Amino acid sequence: MTETLEGPEAIVAAVARLGLGEPIAFPTETVYGLGADALDEDAVARIFALKGRPSTNPLIVHVSGAEMVDELVEEWTNEAQLLADAFWPGALTLVLNKSERVPDIVTAGGPTVAVRCPEHPLALGLIEAYGKPIVGPSANPSGRISPTTAEHVEMGFEGQDLLILDGGSCRAGIESTVVDLTSEEPRVLRPGVVTVAQIARVLDQDVRIDHQESGITKSPGVLGAHYQPTKPTRLVSSDEVAQSGPDIFVIAWSIEVLGDSQSGHILPADPHGFARGLYNAMHEGDLSTASQIWIEHPPKSDEIGSEDAQIWHAIMERLTRACQ
Ligand code: AMP
Ligand code: MG
Repeated sequence: MTETLEGPEAIVAAVARLGLGEPIAFPTETVYGLGADALDEDAVARIFALKGRPSTNPLIVHVSGAEMVDELVEEWTNEAQLLADAFWPGALTLVLNKSERVPDIVTAGGPTVAVRCPEHPLALGLIEAYGKPIVGPSANPSGRISPTTAEHVEMGFEGQDLLILDGGSCRAGIESTVVDLTSEEPRVLRPGVVTVAQIARVLDQDVRIDHQESGITKSPGVLGAHYQPTKPTRLVSSDEVAQSGPDIFVIAWSIEVLGDSQSGHILPADPHGFARGLYNAMHEGDLSTASQIWIEHPPKSDEIGSEDAQIWHAIMERLTRACQ
C-alpha cells in the first residue's frame, strides 16, 4: 500500500525509511522523484526494480548543496562551481567524473555521475535531514508519464509499499537540464527549463547540444520511447485541434475555450506555463474516457523569442517521445 504524508511529519518518516533502505517518493520543482540512499547499493537496486528501469539508465544523485558533492566526484571543477552558483538549487543536473564512493549501480557502470541540488523545500529539507545524497529518478514506472503531483505517483505505484511525500504540484513541470562537464566542451545531454544560452552565458563559452545526435548512449534515458500515456497519443497542428471530437482528449495552447463537443485541457501559451501543466494534462487524458490523446504542436520557432524557443524545444523533446 502506498502512504502519502505532508509537512515535517513526512520528512521524519521518510528519513527513517531511507535509513532502512526502503523506497520513498518526494517532490522536486521539476517532477516527483523516487528516493533511496545513493550510497546504499541494495536500496538503489530496489528503486530500479520498483520502476522497472533498465540497469543501463543511470540515476541522478540529489544533494542539498555543493559541499555534499565532494565525496561523490573526482573533482569539483571551476565550471561546476560557476553553474552551481548560478543555478542551484534548481533544475540543472551536472555530469562529472565519479569517485569510488558512488556505487556502480547508480551510474549504470559508467565513470561519470549526475548530480543536482533541487529547489523544492520538501526535497531540500529531506536531504538535509537525512544528511546524505539521495538518488531521485522520476517517480513513474519506466517509460510512462512523469508525475507532477503526489496523486500521479499514487496511481503509478498503486498497491506497492511506498511512502509518498506530498509537496503539491511541481513548478517547472519537466525534468532538469542535464549538462556534461567531462568532455572538452560542455554538452547539454537533455534540454530543460535551464537553457543552453543561459549555461553558455555563465560559463562564457560555447556549449554543445548533443541530445539530437542519433545513437548517443551517453545519456540513455533521453533516447527512444519515454513519457508515454497508455493511450495512442499524436502531435497535431493548430488546424487539426479544431477537428477533434468527444472521443479525443485534446491538449491545446492556441485556443481559449474548447468547443461543446470537444474534450481536453487548454494549457497556457507561454512555454513555462505549458511545461508546468503538460504532464498533468497527459495524466488527465489517460484517465479520461477518450480513446486517443492529441497534443497541439508547439509554435514554430520563428514566431517566438529565442529563450522561449529553447524551452519549447525542451518540451518538444518530451512530446516526440510521448507520441511514438
Ligand atoms: P530521470 O531521473 O528519469 O529524469 O532520468 C535521469 C536522466 O539523467 C537520464 O536521462 C539519464 O540518462 C541521465 N543521466 C544520469 N546519470 C548520467 C550520467 N552519468 N551521464 C549522463 N547522463 C546521465
Ligand atoms: Mg524519467
